[in-house]
Amino acid sequence: MQPSLVTTLFVVFVLASALTRLWLDGRQARHVARHREAVPAAFAHVVNLHSHQRAADYTLEKLGFGILNGLIGVAVLLAWTLLGGLDALNLALREALLPHVGPLGYQLALLGAFSVISALVDWPLAAYSTFRIEQRHGFNRMTWGTWVGDQLKQSLVGVVIGAPIAALILWLMGSAGSAWWLWAWAAWVAFTLLLMVIFPIFIAPLFNKFEPLADTALADRVQSLMTRCGFQAKGFFVMDGSRRSAHANAYFTGLGAAKRVVFFDTLLNKLSHGEVEAVLAHELGHFKHKHVLKRMVMMFVLSLGGFALLGWLSQQIGFYLGLGVSPNLDAPNDALALLLLMMALPPVMYFVAPVMSHFSRRDEYQADAYACAQASGTDLSMALIKLYKDNSSTLTPDPLYVRFYYSHPPATERLAAMSALSAAH
Ligand SMILES: [Zn+2]
Repeated sequence: MQPSLVTTLFVVFVLASALTRLWLDGRQARHVARHREAVPAAFAHVVNLHSHQRAADYTLEKLGFGILNGLIGVAVLLAWTLLGGLDALNLALREALLPHVGPLGYQLALLGAFSVISALVDWPLAAYSTFRIEQRHGFNRMTWGTWVGDQLKQSLVGVVIGAPIAALILWLMGSAGSAWWLWAWAAWVAFTLLLMVIFPIFIAPLFNKFEPLADTALADRVQSLMTRCGFQAKGFFVMDGSRRSAHANAYFTGLGAAKRVVFFDTLLNKLSHGEVEAVLAHELGHFKHKHVLKRMVMMFVLSLGGFALLGWLSQQIGFYLGLGVSPNLDAPNDALALLLLMMALPPVMYFVAPVMSHFSRRDEYQADAYACAQASGTDLSMALIKLYKDNSSTLTPDPLYVRFYYSHPPATERLAAMSALSAAH
């Protein structure tokens, strides 16, 4: 591979994805601003003009911040690659560490230093998002103490979980022969599955408190829904989501038919029992239609492709040179190849996102239909309206923006699909 070809392809994808993003953000902003003055007819009876305008302002502010974020991201990406940032970091660490800690130690230090620098770039932006944007629109419930504690805990968990798997993959790259990528992929899959088992038990409690659902009337109702749908509940829990944010949610954890059900306290505060049941039925629909399993299998297939690509690219000198890095002559290049692929892939994958969001939206319709069959459709509609309203999600998104990014259909389309469903019955 010619370095110049790699550079050209990289620049083309970085520019194309950045410009497409700007263009779509612009469309979305104009569309939301244009519809700021009137509540869409379908919502006129449930959403007042004031909350509609609040949602528009929140959406516009997040869009503006997203544009700034995207531009910073492009600058950082170019600084790491073509402008020589990763090359300089690699040179410094290689000289300082290689003689003392060996090839694996030096490569882990390179991954670690890269992660620390990336986190330092991200933190001010994340803080701005929480303490300016979310704060101004009344969603933030975090103090600076909680926020800093969260960041530290997340970094610590990242090191404890990330370092062993990174060491294992680097070791396999160096010593498992030319089919190392197959072994590395298998290790990655095993590790991901393990993480799914230990996350609810060991990691989630580091960040939130989980208490058994005390409302027995609701617990009975939810229990009978689970039985009706063929699931066993491994327990109902309430999570103190309100410690951090006013946004509401519910989710499941656990493999197989036995599920731990977790409600955010914010959800229970806003919805009636019937509405909670309908939201839960929607989540169960995702399991009944095997969406969760399909998504996991797709992720594993994609990551197999990613590892195979890494196996091939790591052997191409042009891949390193074309992205601004001189490969090592006296040390393995595996960590460098890993970092370069992690940076080069997102601008390419950006154009695959609409396909993913298409399938994701289709799944949402199926889950809604399942919920309407197992619980009350009226309750589900009401719950959706309340959640869209409380989260200040815009009711008037740009159609093209929706096609590209939305993992969930916009409220209007979801409600229309549900009323078409109930009319058909
Ligand atoms: Zn869903």
